[in-house]
Amino acid sequence: MTHRLPSPLLTRLAPTPSGFLHAGNGLSFVMTWVLARAQAGKVLLRIDDLDRQRFRQEYVEDIFRTIDWLGLDFDLGPSGPDEFEAKYSQRHRMELYRQYLDKLQQNGLVYACTCSRKRVREAAINGFLYDGHCRKGGHPLDTEGAAWRIALPAVAQVEMRDWQHPDPMVLDLNIGMGDYVVRKKDQFPAYQLTSLIDDSHWNINFVVRGKDLLWSSAAQLWLAQQLNVGGFQQSLFWHHELLLNEEGEKLAKSKGASALKTWRESGDSPHKIYRLAAKMLALPEQLGESLPTLIQALKDKIDET
Ligand SMILES: [Zn+2]
Repeated sequence: MTHRLPSPLLTRLAPTPSGFLHAGNGLSFVMTWVLARAQAGKVLLRIDDLDRQRFRQEYVEDIFRTIDWLGLDFDLGPSGPDEFEAKYSQRHRMELYRQYLDKLQQNGLVYACTCSRKRVREAAINGFLYDGHCRKGGHPLDTEGAAWRIALPAVAQVEMRDWQHPDPMVLDLNIGMGDYVVRKKDQFPAYQLTSLIDDSHWNINFVVRGKDLLWSSAAQLWLAQQLNVGGFQQSLFWHHELLLNEEGEKLAKSKGASALKTWRESGDSPHKIYRLAAKMLALPEQLGESLPTLIQALKDKIDET
């Protein structure tokens, strides 16, 4: 452990109701939660529900059941699916997202991209970076079915503080992200924007997520700079290792085997997740016998540093 955790600490669990949560989601929740509790911090539950194509009500219910089953709680956020719909859905914050999209537009930072998914994939530089095809295309921003991408400058650096790295990491988005989407073809704001706005809306100062989201964090930090979203730029991040399946692949919600719903329904306890959490937090695995032992061990460790 290298950086001090923020004090007072406010972190969040940020699931997406686009599939049943898997063991990797559960592990991330447990680690986030025990770190918060060890630091006497608070936890927000905020659900990213703007992917309307994959949204299903049963996935929202699964989020609450999973948190319960894991033995976790939270201090801020919806008490259940009904309150989520009524007060917390991202659809209630569309006006806020729109204001920030307007600001990006006014600052000349976005352009319309009419590429098909297939073209983006086939023309990608190094297999994943958008090739900038539409940047000089001059499509009007209100072109039907166009996405909005950020026009990254030649240097688009951010400085990120990661809990496990002694020095700030300097990342250039041109290397790991390219011109990314901030408004989707369906006109909904994209994840990079909504995640930043939501975290900043609730004054989150500690973000725990998997290593696969490192460049997303960088993209959000860069947006925060452009949009003058102060607090978020000072956030501490922790990008933890990912839990892999037996074939060594990243777990995916679309693949059913690791769904925690299956664990719950077959009467399994969450202890396997606690032990994994202990291991990833560099604690002896037997401390994962319960949440209180995990919290205590982390407290001791934090006090030492
Ligand atoms: Zn394009």
